[in-house]
Amino acid sequence: MRLIIIAVLLIIFCCSLNAAVNVKYSSGLASESIRTEMIGQVEYFNIFEMNKVFKATVQEDILDQRLNVNMYNEQFIFLIDSSFLMFKGKQYNFTYSIIQKDGNYFLPVTFLMNVLPQILSNRISLKDGNIIAANPIDNRLRTIVLDPGHGGKDPGAIGNSKTNFEKELTLLIVKKLKKKIEDNMNVKVLLTRDKDEFVSLQQRTQFANSNAANLFISIHCNAHRNEEVDGIEVYYLSTAKTDEARAVEALENKVVYDYEGGEEAVQKYDDLAFILADMAQSEHLEESYQLGMKLQNNLVGDTGSNNRGVKQANFYVLRGAFMPAVLVEVGFLSNKAEEKKLIKPSYQDKLVESLFQGIQDFKYKYDQMQ
Ligand SMILES: [Zn+2]
Repeated sequence: MRLIIIAVLLIIFCCSLNAAVNVKYSSGLASESIRTEMIGQVEYFNIFEMNKVFKATVQEDILDQRLNVNMYNEQFIFLIDSSFLMFKGKQYNFTYSIIQKDGNYFLPVTFLMNVLPQILSNRISLKDGNIIAANPIDNRLRTIVLDPGHGGKDPGAIGNSKTNFEKELTLLIVKKLKKKIEDNMNVKVLLTRDKDEFVSLQQRTQFANSNAANLFISIHCNAHRNEEVDGIEVYYLSTAKTDEARAVEALENKVVYDYEGGEEAVQKYDDLAFILADMAQSEHLEESYQLGMKLQNNLVGDTGSNNRGVKQANFYVLRGAFMPAVLVEVGFLSNKAEEKKLIKPSYQDKLVESLFQGIQDFKYKYDQMQ
């Protein structure tokens, strides 16, 4: 009996020897391990383990039969079903082919032990069979700032009924969206305001910048002199625009004149500093546009609302944001029917679900691109 127990323990011990590769970080972080398994006679690991320990992103390129792996701001190109990778124009052989199993890709441990320390010698080394790694660089989308439009002395648009205010509805929607995102995604969500208080447009963007947010979404309700006008539209930043977009822009920027100090405050926003800040946003225009398209399509598809499209305008609140940024007009409070819908919790939930889906899709793509 005792022999059997010893034999079992021995087997467990031997198996555990091959069950992981330990990764220690040169500066302080708690150690991690890469789980491995034997496939045939060769020790392999799931490529997604590299995400855990190196914050690597893996992008599958089926057309070219490649896997693009990004880590430490470098890119490796693995050729599917081969034992080769390309790095900075050179080929490296890690002896055993990549294996596809249950929809996952497995790399041989020889890649970790022989090739990785060679090609990333300034980041990765080996010591006593452990990998010693520099702290990983995490470029994934981690922080989202949600911005409920208006607040405090600035009510924003006022409903057709005169009883509902934009500042209240935007806060309700944003609070629900924050909860939805935090319950379902591994990201931090910060709000520019979480109660009925006045926050200047500049403070909102600065808040996003100082928290190193990866995404800024400002939520608004629209208004129009013509009560018939309804529908949803999403904006991203630009100075080029149509008359229609200019009208909404004037409405949303009006807060600066009305509540932040008149002409002088407007002048401040128009200063050279802000023109330069616009350039900060210009490098994110493509991403902002992509996000805008996703949100707009989801919102219109899910609610059946009038599709007013994705537009460009010069919103002060989007200026100077060092991240993809959009402004969503979820509907017209000046329209009787739309006001009625917007105050319904079930309709707000629908908007939140659409926005959430768009954000989730955006994060997926964003993480692959980094
Ligand atoms: Zn507004």
